[in-house]
Amino acid sequence: MPYALEAVSITKSYPSDNGRNVVLRDMSFRAAKDEFVAFVGPSGCGKSTLFNIITGLMAPDDGAILVDGEETTGRVSEKIGYVLQKDLLFPWRTVEDNIILGLEIKGHSKRDARARASELLVEYKMAGYEKKLPGELSGGMRQRVALMRTMITDPQIILIDESYKALDYPLKIELEGELLDRVKGSGKTVIFITHDIEEAVTMADRVYVMKARPGEIVEEIEIDLGTDSHSIPERRMSPRFNEYYNRIWKRIGGAHASAA
Ligand code: ADP
Ligand code: MG
Repeated sequence: MPYALEAVSITKSYPSDNGRNVVLRDMSFRAAKDEFVAFVGPSGCGKSTLFNIITGLMAPDDGAILVDGEETTGRVSEKIGYVLQKDLLFPWRTVEDNIILGLEIKGHSKRDARARASELLVEYKMAGYEKKLPGELSGGMRQRVALMRTMITDPQIILIDESYKALDYPLKIELEGELLDRVKGSGKTVIFITHDIEEAVTMADRVYVMKARPGEIVEEIEIDLGTDSHSIPERRMSPRFNEYYNRIWKRIGGAHASAA
């Protein structure tokens, strides 16, 4: 069976004052159905660029992206949903109208889309918030709305770009646990990028460790915390957590500390 997502030798550079600045070099990786894959690396190592290439919003200079074994390089695949680094909700649209945006763009009727949104709002414990504006919501609620906006289109692959970065710790681990609950075992693939080693180890089945300038994969680590729990604090307590954490820290610790 083909991988849900496969990247083959992706290289990307941007124009700079002295020629071209290579941001990603020879990046190859894969993600399977039902797998959570994390990219962890310092800021500026090209994580957002990589996501723009995976989604097809940007073309690489070289290399290929395959979704379910089919090449999609440089074009947007319907099978991929993207939760952006900032939640980027439209402030003038209500919660439900933010959630249905993707379906509306695809030409679904507003009525059907709103019916689906209200099911999601129940599922995400936000029933009653349909008519609120994003400005009236807490940070955690805004993130849930951003996730619902992606989930409503039922993507097979979900990309998450440091969405939980700005949240305080208890809320962050609550949302991380909710994501595991909703997506684990659903057959979907989650690929997320983070500079937070703890988040990578507690959430991912596999971690790609990146370095910067140019962005490259320096290590691939299979994570097995030995628990099926979706509770982040419980996963954090796994006796194996520290071993994984330290292994990643040793690879990126110095660069990470100076870039932060
Ligand atoms: P990350 O998400 O890991 O912080 P980015 O992908 O945003 O990294 O950026 C990687 C590098 O590429 C940075 O040095 C950044 O300044 C540079 N960069 C990002 N986008 C552009 C662009 N459109 N043009 C030129 N340089 C860019
Ligand atoms: Mg980024």
